[in-house]
Amino acid sequence: MVEMESDLVIAGGGLSGVCCAITAARQGLKVILVQDRSVLGGNASSEVRLWVLGATSHMGNNNRWAREGGVIDEILVENTYRNPEGNPIIMDALLLDKVVSEPNISLLLNTSVYNAKKADADTITSLQAFCSQNQTAYELKAPLFCDASGDGVVGFLSGAAFRMGAESKDEFGELFAPTKEYGELLGHSLYFYSKDTGKPVTFVPPSFALDDITKIPKFKSFNAQEFGCRLWWIEYGGRMDTVHDTEKIKWELWKIVYGVWNYIKNSGSFPDASTLTLEWVGMIPGKRESRRFEGDYMLKQQDIIEQREHADAVAFGGWSVDLHPSDGVYTDLPGCNQWHSKGTYQIPYRCLYSKNIRNLFLAGRIISASHVAFGSSRVMATSAYVAQAAAMGAVLCKKYNCNPADLYRDNKIKELQKRLINAGQYIPGVAVNDEMDLVQKAVVSASSELVLTELTEDETPATLDLSMAQMIPVEAGALPAIVIHAYSQTSTVLKVEFRTCSKTGSYTPDNVVASFDLPIEPGRNCLQLNAGLVIDAAQYIFVLFHKNPLVKIARSAKRITGILSVFNTINPAVSNYGKQEPPEGIGMDSFEFWCPQRRPAGQNIAMKFSGALPGFSASNIKNGISRPAASPNAWVADFKDARPSIQLQWDAPVTIKTICLSFDTDFDHPMESVLMHHPENIMPFCVRNYSIFDDKGQKIAEKKGNYQSRNRIVLDEAIVTNGLTIRVEHPSPLTPAAIFEISCYS
Ligand SMILES: Cc1cc2nc3c(=O)[nH]c(=O)nc-3n(C[C@H](O)[C@H](O)[C@H](O)COP(=O)(O)OP(=O)(O)OC[C@H]3O[C@@H](n4cnc5c(N)ncnc54)[C@H](O)[C@@H]3O)c2cc1C
Repeated sequence: MVEMESDLVIAGGGLSGVCCAITAARQGLKVILVQDRSVLGGNASSEVRLWVLGATSHMGNNNRWAREGGVIDEILVENTYRNPEGNPIIMDALLLDKVVSEPNISLLLNTSVYNAKKADADTITSLQAFCSQNQTAYELKAPLFCDASGDGVVGFLSGAAFRMGAESKDEFGELFAPTKEYGELLGHSLYFYSKDTGKPVTFVPPSFALDDITKIPKFKSFNAQEFGCRLWWIEYGGRMDTVHDTEKIKWELWKIVYGVWNYIKNSGSFPDASTLTLEWVGMIPGKRESRRFEGDYMLKQQDIIEQREHADAVAFGGWSVDLHPSDGVYTDLPGCNQWHSKGTYQIPYRCLYSKNIRNLFLAGRIISASHVAFGSSRVMATSAYVAQAAAMGAVLCKKYNCNPADLYRDNKIKELQKRLINAGQYIPGVAVNDEMDLVQKAVVSASSELVLTELTEDETPATLDLSMAQMIPVEAGALPAIVIHAYSQTSTVLKVEFRTCSKTGSYTPDNVVASFDLPIEPGRNCLQLNAGLVIDAAQYIFVLFHKNPLVKIARSAKRITGILSVFNTINPAVSNYGKQEPPEGIGMDSFEFWCPQRRPAGQNIAMKFSGALPGFSASNIKNGISRPAASPNAWVADFKDARPSIQLQWDAPVTIKTICLSFDTDFDHPMESVLMHHPENIMPFCVRNYSIFDDKGQKIAEKKGNYQSRNRIVLDEAIVTNGLTIRVEHPSPLTPAAIFEISCYS
């Protein structure tokens, strides 16, 4: 038995375990990460091949600027940079790279946790694990443990309170709680990849392949070109014990996969499949659901749909509440039942530790959430995000020599939130100004600030065959008057509205504040939109153009941080059919979807404003929010500024060792990790080149070719200075340079 000791032992190297380990290690904790497979990533690894998703929801709902921050953001940005084609093998290598680059992490691969030792009924002292490759048993000791194993192996072995199956409607008043008939557990799935060889290929099915394809009602809508996680509907096992029956479920899924492929290849219904071969079939199923553990709070449907606020919010979610029928492929029911909320929702810290095992953190899909809430919180970017919060909780537990629940009881949540935000975690509705951050005491000025009075008309006009809207930030007070240009060949009427969102911090344009019916004449029309309205708080308004295929609207090629166009599109992949219209009595809201388009589409609508739009001032770099929220929240330089720079000035000399910069890597871009090809591998808003100078004009740091959201610059030697100048280059002539946040530490 090899004994190892650390500050934190994490069981499970899925994305949750990985992001938890890296977050904790970077804060100085010694971490053991033990993973039973030979690669990291869990369901995101090449063994299962799911694309990582979270609140951005394939860009198919109303959650703007909602990609998760911190380590999961760094990984997705890096993967998009190295691997825009979404090759799962490259993603495996990236995750290994990230973990082995952290000297504080001891990684045990191919090593399975099988026992937990305890000091008393409530306290784990060590985990026992075995590596089948080197035939070595390990005893992993620590004061703190985190279960990120998906099935909750540590929680189960240590006697942590858990649930399996769904809660009744009555328990938490969740109107969407499923019936027993629909099913109380989501099943597993197995995927295959196919490949076009360019020549005819035959296929002889194995003996265990399903021979009667009509047993799968969906067989009539099979498509020979689909593979990988687009086959999410190949699901089975929700009526079984999804832990102990996993091998049985896998065999059934293999039977289904080979049966589906046999049908595609040999039924004669798919001539386009003649040159296709089976390139890969999953060897282990992707597991959706098994145990959910009980913390001091259980997230529930109302937290998500009503976007309830929690004083101990440490993360957010934003995937739809997404339940599946337990009969999986063997039912006529749709493969999923998804309902979105109007915006993202907070996840409280109390969901991230066991209520009865004192030193056990929970991360990933096993956090304390009802079955219905789990339907949303289970996706991987959200899972990883909560894991980062658990990691930071462990950091404070070490600092205060306490257990996870003590941080809540002893009012350490503000400190936890501050640390998380400093590490790049965005918590909706929570802004923290860190008194250790020297920038908070600096006077900030800039060579220029964007004066946005116009989105210039320099792109071909778009036909209004879809309703579209321009999101613009406005201050409390009078709404600006707006001029737009429309083109038509005939006379018609264009319906335009100003809308806002009824929920603070959300972006569902459900509140019409002004409406215009504008007569359009043949030719170019110059249209004045002046509502003469006063609004009470800074927010985004939607200047919304109703569909009218007779009209073209002038567009702008400029891409500006915090300025976005959205479209009333449909996206069936996330159950977006333009408008969400739930049946009565399931506790879900009715609203329209207004989503951005993926580049190269999604241009802004050209318009002129009676005054400059707010949200681009240099002081934003110290407002504690490092992404657009009620305003762009960034310093954005003016287009005309040839040498943009921002200056920090202190009354007295300060000692600086570390400088952190946050750039715009487009928090709307979901950066799906596999299968999806991305149009660019560097986000167009991101500052690529910058240099930093001290008060004597000496260059103390420089970066060329940046593509990451957060740059943390640790100087070789601390400097003493009265000021810093950060000189940046515009990313392109179409996009002015922007910085969300600057912080400096001694
Ligand atoms: C078919 C399917 C489709 C889905 N679609 C999506 C999607 O499109 N996008 C998305 O983001 N999410 C999706 N999900 C949900 C998501 O994949 C899971 O909820 C998510 O993987 C949970 O993350 P996790 O880290 O908790 O678990 P996992 O990703 O399962 O990681 C847990 C890790 O722990 C390891 N482990 C288990 N037991 C032990 C042990 N005893 N010792 C050591 N290690 C152990 C496992 O091998 C695994 O690597 C889907 C899930 C499935 C199954």
